[in-house]
Amino acid sequence: MAIWNLGSINIDHVYRLAHLPQPGETIAAQGYALGLGGKGANQSIAAARAGASTLHLGAMSDGDDWVPRRLVDYGVQTHLIQRQPGQTTGHAIILLESSGENSIVIHPGANRQIDSAALMAAMDEITAADTLLLQNETSLQVQAAQAARAKGAKVIYSAAPFDLQALREVLPYVSVLAMNAGEAEQLFAAMPGEIPVEGLLITRGAEGAEYRDLTTGETTHQPAFAVRPVDTTGAGDTFAGYFAAARDGGATIAAALELAAAAAALKVTRAGAGDAIPTYDEVQEFLQ
Ligand code: ATP
Repeated sequence: MAIWNLGSINIDHVYRLAHLPQPGETIAAQGYALGLGGKGANQSIAAARAGASTLHLGAMSDGDDWVPRRLVDYGVQTHLIQRQPGQTTGHAIILLESSGENSIVIHPGANRQIDSAALMAAMDEITAADTLLLQNETSLQVQAAQAARAKGAKVIYSAAPFDLQALREVLPYVSVLAMNAGEAEQLFAAMPGEIPVEGLLITRGAEGAEYRDLTTGETTHQPAFAVRPVDTTGAGDTFAGYFAAARDGGATIAAALELAAAAAALKVTRAGAGDAIPTYDEVQEFLQ
């Protein structure tokens, strides 16, 4: 019925450079772009664009008003975002070399300073028909997952950035665990036995994705759509948000995988993160 997403909100500062600076070197950028990013915001945008009623839970400064305005433009409900005086909105400094190589510094800021009482009060309204999305870029994932499961809601956790300790703590409350190939490899190496979730969603870049239903043992494969990649930032988030929204809307696993793969393929053809996530109509047109 609705997607609740406890996720990061980052302002992306992207600098185009002839080469990445060496220690001690100062260089002028050849170009600059300001964008919306953070795995959380990206997944909320993807879920909203896929047509799900999407509520973003998270935190940012009490300034940067263009950020929630832009989220609203993309269809995300922002009234549950905590505005924190004295905190900095999470941001990423992205240095892009013309070769495609990059270096990134992230300052989590408010993303890791979520107020527990306010979050729990907001989450009181989640129902068994809803889905909670989580990634590993905020604080309080475990509390949120626990509260959602207590209400009977489904919990989808993107294990990124990968942190085994964080994953182990949240895992008892997770319904579907979403990972890219590298994260899945780390998980299987660390936890060779059974993983106590209902399903595993594994994305493999240009090789596509698969969903393993651990309750039936069935695996559904989804090839990637052939596109010319321009910027793969946010491909995994586009996939996760579209997949969660499609499942929330009653789509089968196969249909949700196909829609998500098409949305992620389109994203890959565009530069940017949250701002480059395609609309449902664009994805439908691509699928024609
Ligand atoms: P990111 O961290 O860049 O957001 P990720 O590592 O989480 O991405 P990937 O597995 O690289 O996620 O990509 C997610 C999905 O996006 C893939 O399963 C695929 O459907 C689509 N995708 C990614 N790269 C390509 C590509 N080059 N061509 C077509 N589809 C792609």
